[in-house]
Amino acid sequence: MEPLLRDFPSASAAELLWLQEVLVSVERTVLPVAGHAGSCAGGLVLAVIRTAQRALGLRSDTLPLSYRLVSVAELLARQRTPCCSHMTWSTAQFRVWAQAGERRAAGRRALPRDNLLLIGRLMDHRDAGPDGAAVHDGSLSLRDGSGALYCEVLQLSPDWLGRLMLFPGWTYIPQVAMGVGQEARGYLELSAPPLPLHPDPPMIPDPGAPPSLTSAMTPQEATALLRERSRAPGVRVAVWGQLSVLCPLLAIAGRTFFCLTLSDRHRGSSVPVLVMEPALLVWQRCLGVGDWLAVTGLRVCVLRSWGRRHVLCVTPQSRLHPLDGPLDTDTQAEGRMETDTQTDRRIETQAQAETERQADRQTDALTHSAYRHKRSKIIDYKGVVSRVLNAEAGLYEIDGQVGLCLAYQQVLNCGRGLRPGAEIELRHVHFLFRPSPHFPLTMLCACLRTTLRLGGFSAVGSEFTPFDPRGSPAVRFLLERELSVSDFLWACHCVCALRERLCPRFVKPGRLLGGAGGGAAGRFLRCVLGTVETGRRPERDIYREMLDEPHSCPLVEYRVGPPPCQSPSMRELCDLGVSLCWGSMCLSSLLPPEAPHLTSAELNLPLAWSVHCKPSPALRPPAVLVGLLGVCVRSGCVRLQDQTGCVDCVCVERGATRDSALTNPAWIGCLVCVQRFTLLTERFLQTDFPSWAQLDQPQYIRHRHCRVYIQLCVDDVEILSPSAAMSASRRGRERRGKREEDREVEGAGERDGTSVPVPEQDEGRSAEQHRETEGAVPAGATGLEGEGAGRDRERAGSRSRKRRAPSGAGTEQRGRGLTSAPPPPPPPPCVSLLLQVLWKEGLALGTAGFVAAALLLGGPRVWVGDPRDAETDAEGGASTRVDLQFVGEAVRWYPFLHPGCLYSLTAPNTADPSVLSVSPSVPVRTGAQSPAHPSLPVSPHWTLQSLTRPEVCQCWETGVQSVSDVLNSRDPLSLVSFEGRISQRITLQEEKGKTPVIQSLPSDLDAIVESGLRMRLTVCDLLCPWLCVQLYADLSQRPYPPGLVPGATVLFQRVQRKVSRAGNVYCRSVVISCLTVMQLGDGNTGEPQSLSSSSPSPPAIRHLGEWAHAAAPQCVVGQLRGHVVCVLFLELRWTCSLCGSVFKQDSCTRNYPPCNSDSGVFQAVANVVVEDGSAEARVRLSTPAVLALLALGSAQWEGLQQLVRVRGHLRLFNRGRSAESRQGSVQCDDPLVQFLSLLCSSPSVCRSVGLSCRLQRRPPTPGHENCQLRRFTRGDREFVTKMPTALQLHCAELTD
Ligand SMILES: [Zn+2]
Ligand SMILES: [Zn+2]
Repeated sequence: MEPLLRDFPSASAAELLWLQEVLVSVERTVLPVAGHAGSCAGGLVLAVIRTAQRALGLRSDTLPLSYRLVSVAELLARQRTPCCSHMTWSTAQFRVWAQAGERRAAGRRALPRDNLLLIGRLMDHRDAGPDGAAVHDGSLSLRDGSGALYCEVLQLSPDWLGRLMLFPGWTYIPQVAMGVGQEARGYLELSAPPLPLHPDPPMIPDPGAPPSLTSAMTPQEATALLRERSRAPGVRVAVWGQLSVLCPLLAIAGRTFFCLTLSDRHRGSSVPVLVMEPALLVWQRCLGVGDWLAVTGLRVCVLRSWGRRHVLCVTPQSRLHPLDGPLDTDTQAEGRMETDTQTDRRIETQAQAETERQADRQTDALTHSAYRHKRSKIIDYKGVVSRVLNAEAGLYEIDGQVGLCLAYQQVLNCGRGLRPGAEIELRHVHFLFRPSPHFPLTMLCACLRTTLRLGGFSAVGSEFTPFDPRGSPAVRFLLERELSVSDFLWACHCVCALRERLCPRFVKPGRLLGGAGGGAAGRFLRCVLGTVETGRRPERDIYREMLDEPHSCPLVEYRVGPPPCQSPSMRELCDLGVSLCWGSMCLSSLLPPEAPHLTSAELNLPLAWSVHCKPSPALRPPAVLVGLLGVCVRSGCVRLQDQTGCVDCVCVERGATRDSALTNPAWIGCLVCVQRFTLLTERFLQTDFPSWAQLDQPQYIRHRHCRVYIQLCVDDVEILSPSAAMSASRRGRERRGKREEDREVEGAGERDGTSVPVPEQDEGRSAEQHRETEGAVPAGATGLEGEGAGRDRERAGSRSRKRRAPSGAGTEQRGRGLTSAPPPPPPPPCVSLLLQVLWKEGLALGTAGFVAAALLLGGPRVWVGDPRDAETDAEGGASTRVDLQFVGEAVRWYPFLHPGCLYSLTAPNTADPSVLSVSPSVPVRTGAQSPAHPSLPVSPHWTLQSLTRPEVCQCWETGVQSVSDVLNSRDPLSLVSFEGRISQRITLQEEKGKTPVIQSLPSDLDAIVESGLRMRLTVCDLLCPWLCVQLYADLSQRPYPPGLVPGATVLFQRVQRKVSRAGNVYCRSVVISCLTVMQLGDGNTGEPQSLSSSSPSPPAIRHLGEWAHAAAPQCVVGQLRGHVVCVLFLELRWTCSLCGSVFKQDSCTRNYPPCNSDSGVFQAVANVVVEDGSAEARVRLSTPAVLALLALGSAQWEGLQQLVRVRGHLRLFNRGRSAESRQGSVQCDDPLVQFLSLLCSSPSVCRSVGLSCRLQRRPPTPGHENCQLRRFTRGDREFVTKMPTALQLHCAELTD
């Protein structure tokens, strides 16, 4: 302090206090790095004050009292917001700078100014590792006694390195901590040249510098030298030229290096120089494209990975000599001109980008193909960063309109300085137009040849998120798969979209993005981009990309067009389903061909319900879904959900022979990616169209809404992040597999003495992949061969061997069971129960749960740890029938419980088996006729696990019948379970006096209000599709079951089997009935007339004899060829489409009550006798078939309709072959009747035809199999004889 006081004898008290503080700070932070022998704190303080006075323009007796010395540690620890210090600027200067900065980055405030003194040393390396070894990775840092801080400079001077300096202008930018536990570090932006505290050291003659540069070669001479293969070792050369290419720093396989190219434009020659010397890497920051320079001390090397070509390499003796211009007087004038034009081009870049964009727009307007490959242009660009689009993926926006992608470069400084408001200069950057629909139209993409320079730091306080290529799943995937720009941008968009939709409610950000394999997002990209054509190019060769002429790199060509697939959120998916279903709706396509002849009631019935199916690959572009699987406890339906919403899923799993319903509850909580699914939209329409003619008038649609859901098979689903139960069950499966394998191999090993191979685990493999792609550029790229390069290679080889060896040993040890590891804490005990489900009841609205009947296989068992890991064996013998009551949250197991399947019910964290003991109590809901069984209420926190043990499954018959069993059953049991395929779904008319509109899920926010919940399902037998049963279901009192569409195989549990008065068997769903989709339907109803809509092939061709003698089939469809023997009956009439009365002229004939309908439809019915040689049948034909039968031309048919319209209706009866009309007996002179009688008996009608028929139901004739008594009179005798009932068919289609 005393020497200081000598310098400031007249210091005031405040000044003394300030001096004291500065002294303490200097002792703590500056002295440890001062380095000079003999430097003392007092001397340093004086140097600091003098330097600060120079910077501030103060007199030597004025102390900068408003300034305070700040240390690196203090900035790191205390400064949470950006701040800046500008000693040399006046307030006015600072304001101008701040205002300019705010203009450049709209909407952001300028940095606050602080009066801080920062003193330290600028270093070109960082210390790493426990030994503190210097790592030269091109980073700059400022170091003082308290710590080190990364810093960025605009233009580095090599003189600054290692000197103790005062920094008069800087900005400190703290870094946003990316995750929990991550260290928040900031960095400095040095905007003004630093001021040395001590005067320049005396110049020491540099031994490496040649006395003059007269011996330096031109690039042309150097190229000639490189062509000579034989070169004496140890010779050093010097080269001068203009810097034409300055590649960015690359760090590969632990080495950091860069390339530059010196060229002589005048002579058209260039020579590449490789800089690998750690101490010389700072050159990269000191140089600029277009600079003239000379490099000395270069040696000639062979680049193995660049086709064994020769390049120049710097040596530790190499020196850089900036030149004002060419050394050669011949090219001096030319060179200056070159430099000038270069500057001009920089200014023109923006205008150039604009014109190229216009040109691109024109070509785009001309070509409209989906995909197009384009070549990028190479330009220089100067602009201002306006926005950070995606810091993790290295995507920025410049000038508010142009995108910048740095992902193809290895940005070693993590993008420090690239904040909004920063000016940047890009040299040799690829200009792409519309590479992705999700990013700006124009993109600038930096490759390994692009020079990125900061032209000015940002003046606004925008925060900084580092661009770490290794942290971004998209960038890692880019390197793994060598993605094209378009695919990479799409991947970035997807990762962002996933984060928005899933974090933080469903997935933690770390689980989505972190981890060895890039987290769930990485798995998603692998899953999606693994299947699309990524346009793989040959493996990247970094030296080619940097040095080859003409330039070639992955950015030279790019694809324009739609993304490989879309990944809609749940909300977007639902919207898509709604728009697709209404956009594609065509009312006439929902109707049968005879629709023009249907009355209003018949017409509106098929319109009431329809389904629209769209398989995901058919969507344009194909859709891939990502969401978390869960179960809605109100509806008992599996759902795929994200933060935007959820969508119901009908899930099945693939079995050995056929699909079946999902049984594994571990799917709950899995984050999945669904690539193959079907988007279904069920339409519910309330219409009152009077007739076909008004179908195009939308005012007759009273109400419409739709329900969107998806159908999928879980075997097509990729798990991005498994639930705890799923990972545990996978581990258990792996362990079991391993045990079995071990057992097998042990046997083999005993025989031939081989060791046990250890299966490679998934995690291990992905970690290995990760290591391979860790460097941002393909591995094995530093193939440098020169002096000592062979040695390097050998070392690297041994290193890699060493690296591999211990890991291999580790796996072996793990495989054998590591005994030396400390034993893990004992897992908590649990009690489990093995059970087989017999049946389950359906969920009903308003009740809190459901009941499932099950057989308990053995009693409760106590486990230590997870019973999943143990062999769960069924104890033979005693099995108890029990009713499991699922209430509240336990309803989540509803979709997974199926008859015949085996489950383990576990009560965790208890060793008391009595919690799982059954009690003989009354069930919550009394099922019909079920005897009281002991019941077991299932607690919500118990877990359910499905077991696949086929040998146990055989121990009990599931009781699930087929449709034919149900039809032919003589069992009086009224509740049956059967499985069949839905061939038709018809909505039934609402009963009178009943509210037609029911909310199926009243508590849902987006409650779907639907009507038409009473329906009739036609269910066909799985083996004999011509056998079918009608099932009447009322869905209004239960959660809406999705998936009941034609083509679906459904298990109907606990439905009522009934026999109609006519003797027909039908089924009715009751409150406890349960409908489970076992196989997905495609909704393909086909034409209702095609009779077997679910089977794609036409119905089989049959003989009438087969039908006549078949043993009581309930419902038979088939095709036949036969001869029309005669027409027994023909009726042509006009019917009122509203009331069904006869419609005459233009009005309805009904009087009581009067009908004022003005629409009538023409209908025709005929009964004909057809024989095919094996038997004879009466066939009933309706309108379109009658038209085909009569074989009239359209004009004649129209005329006939008009003639009938005058009289309303016309009937023609015929008894056998003698044509005789009952009506005609009175009006036999009616020409129309005469014409029709003649027509019906003519060979043009009585001809050979093809028919698609359905067997009409025969009345039951107990005792008389298919016979009836007929009375005949012959003269005065009367005979009674048994006649077989005539075979009656209904014809849907008649062909010639
Ligand atoms: Zn390139
Ligand atoms: Zn009427």
